[in-house]
Amino acid sequence: PSSKLPEVGTTIFSVMSALAVEKKAVNLGQGFPDFDCDPALPAAVTRAMQEGLNQYPPMPGLPAFRQQISDKIVSLYGQRYDPATEITVTAGATQAILTTLLACVHPGDEVIVIEPAYDSYIPSIRLAGGVPVLVSMELGEQGYSIPWEQIKAKISDKTRLLMLNSPHNPTGFVMTAADISALCEIVRGTRLLIASDEVYEHMVFDGMRHESLACYPELAARSYIISSFGKTYHVTGWKVGYVAAPAALMAEFRKVHQFNVFTVNTPMQAGLTHYMQNPAPYLELSGFYQKKRDLFRQGLQKTRFRLLPCAGTYFQSVDYSAISSLSELDFARWLTTEAGVAAIPVSAFYQQGKESRIVRFCFAKQDATLHEALHRLAAL
Ligand code: PMP
Ligand code: GLN
Repeated sequence: PSSKLPEVGTTIFSVMSALAVEKKAVNLGQGFPDFDCDPALPAAVTRAMQEGLNQYPPMPGLPAFRQQISDKIVSLYGQRYDPATEITVTAGATQAILTTLLACVHPGDEVIVIEPAYDSYIPSIRLAGGVPVLVSMELGEQGYSIPWEQIKAKISDKTRLLMLNSPHNPTGFVMTAADISALCEIVRGTRLLIASDEVYEHMVFDGMRHESLACYPELAARSYIISSFGKTYHVTGWKVGYVAAPAALMAEFRKVHQFNVFTVNTPMQAGLTHYMQNPAPYLELSGFYQKKRDLFRQGLQKTRFRLLPCAGTYFQSVDYSAISSLSELDFARWLTTEAGVAAIPVSAFYQQGKESRIVRFCFAKQDATLHEALHRLAAL
């Protein structure tokens, strides 16, 4: 049969994790914590199961859970989403992204994607029949930035949607108020929709604030805002996330969602509802990861890697050109095999042709793991 995704192989995250296991490397590749979540979370899920919460929840998610999510968004970003019509629980952000695209993009519609881009975006656009239109972030002295003028130049009658991601994987870039002003200006008067991937919303450093599009009514009116509990509560394997969008947009999302997964498992939603009553875990997350970022950066400063800025997320990118002239993929393989530390080549976040000498490390790890990795990296 002819492939619907002829250019797609196995995702780099699976490839590098498998290699890390095979080579017994310290795995700073795929983004997930190597420490466990708060035991109160599995306890709440277990309780829900024992109490008999084991059948289908309503299609958009448990009402109490959607209410908690709505309350969190109001308290942090000031925008009220109606839990009945404007919030849907998803099987992680990945399903939220695919379902958003399937719901909005007609065959031939253009979708603007900013590279480097999370690796599910472009295949998801293609599955929806859309045409990805690529714009590259610029890398200057101050780090990465979004070239808004170039984005503006790509918008036409065919453009249906703009994919955004802040805090940004893999660069650690975080949008500022100036980015928001530029965004408001370019979308005003267009019919453009926005999918805003905010899965790292609770990981921003040095006193910066996360600019959720939910803070800005004129942007929120055209946006699907996507997040994931996997990142926030150290439970990437649970695959629970959500989408918030105005009722008319959410109605289209739910038409697809109901035939995509129909709904998401009940006991984890119930456990998360209970756990979310306390805002402390997500309010304290930036501080928690800032300490790990600082530990990791201080260690890397003693190596031959050159640090790129990291304003948010749990990823640190580094330039390795003082160490090797291998391509990024070859270097990541070599690093895993020979130095015993797995990383992700940033070229995996580009469609093609973009080769620099940058790899991404994940620092969502126990301090002991980071020390061991730094010890190995210092030898290079
Ligand atoms: N978007 C970004 C930017 C991500 O980094 C990730 C997680 N790797 C996802 C989406 C997917 O999140 P989930 O695991 O909840 O599907
Ligand atoms: N989001 C994680 C990362 O960027 C991995 C997700 C996945 O394995 N698909 O590393």
